[in-house]
Amino acid sequence: MKELIDILKRDRKLLPEEFAALINGMSEEDALYLKEQAFQVKEQFFGNKVFTRGLIEFTNYCKNDCYYCGIRKSNVNAVRYRLTLEDILSCCEEGYGLGFRTFVLQGGEDLRYSDEDIEQICRSIKNKYPDCAITLSIGEKSYESYKRYKEAGADRYLLRHETADEEHYRLLHPESLSLKERKQCLWNLKELGYQVGTGFMVGSPFQTAECIAKDLAFIKELEPAMVGIGPFLPHHDTPFKEYPKGSYELTLRMIAILRLMIPNGLLPATTALGTIHPMGREAGISWGANVVMPNLSPVRVRKKYELYDNKICTGDEAAECRSCLQRRMLTVGHEIVTARGDFIPYTFEAEGKENLCTM
Ligand code: SAM
Repeated sequence: MKELIDILKRDRKLLPEEFAALINGMSEEDALYLKEQAFQVKEQFFGNKVFTRGLIEFTNYCKNDCYYCGIRKSNVNAVRYRLTLEDILSCCEEGYGLGFRTFVLQGGEDLRYSDEDIEQICRSIKNKYPDCAITLSIGEKSYESYKRYKEAGADRYLLRHETADEEHYRLLHPESLSLKERKQCLWNLKELGYQVGTGFMVGSPFQTAECIAKDLAFIKELEPAMVGIGPFLPHHDTPFKEYPKGSYELTLRMIAILRLMIPNGLLPATTALGTIHPMGREAGISWGANVVMPNLSPVRVRKKYELYDNKICTGDEAAECRSCLQRRMLTVGHEIVTARGDFIPYTFEAEGKENLCTM
């Protein structure tokens, strides 16, 4: 397996069957080797710096019914909320004061916000904070809508593909959603010049090593700026409530594999990783992640954005979240930086040795 890890580090890719073999056949010793290699690559590109993004979960209404998600349309027990433009701007104000230079606006697919509303949100944030990046994560929209948001100031877009295996996609989603459409959205976003983030859950029901191999092959093809992965965690009010959690160890290994595939990539140590294990986000950084996303949403709505059970950080004020994460990062020798943390394309062929945090 070490040989496969060396090839992955050198070529930044493997064949799908090699990925599957690596995932299935990795010993503890191989995993430690993988971790060392990934950490080295991250150090080379980013030093001990961790980028931070202020997450604003602005609506938990959703028109979709994904079988795994706690805010799915059919969950009648979800207590729904929407933030106003004023609410969102006040989250940004607090976040800016705390050193955030990226705001991530995430929500369910809520049709109450028209394209004009999203444009207005983007324009208002950009007007007040022109030095900040805006990331949208509001699901599948038309090419024209994505274009409008971009023109209104959105810089980045997060849209996890969820799984790159057609059959697996069908088992996680109702008929109204398709992998083809999801992928097309990602290609459209790329064409429009967004810094694009994709990703998937590790250990979602029915996932196999072959599914993950397809995820990695798709990620290689897409060449995203960001990849968000976290373990699947069941939610008690969804059809998948009885399914087991994804594996913590496999999630860490996947972060390391992604770091070797995308040395200059932005890889978050996600909230789901921090939920499955109390030191999950710290471990994520040690296995190659370089982004954390503290929550800036008002405390009164935090618990309501419940994608899975026992989600962490639902009771703390933004400032507490920020300083808690800063302390946590220090325990693994890392520091949070006040920077937009844009994706910097890198010509690997030229093989410079710049540290991207200094660029
Ligand atoms: N509506 C937007 C979209 O579809 O991209 C963004 C919000 S969606 C709730 C954000 C992500 O949460 C999804 O892409 C999914 O991977 C993750 N998620 C949802 N339910 C989850 C669960 N039970 N366990 C872990 N992650 C989950």
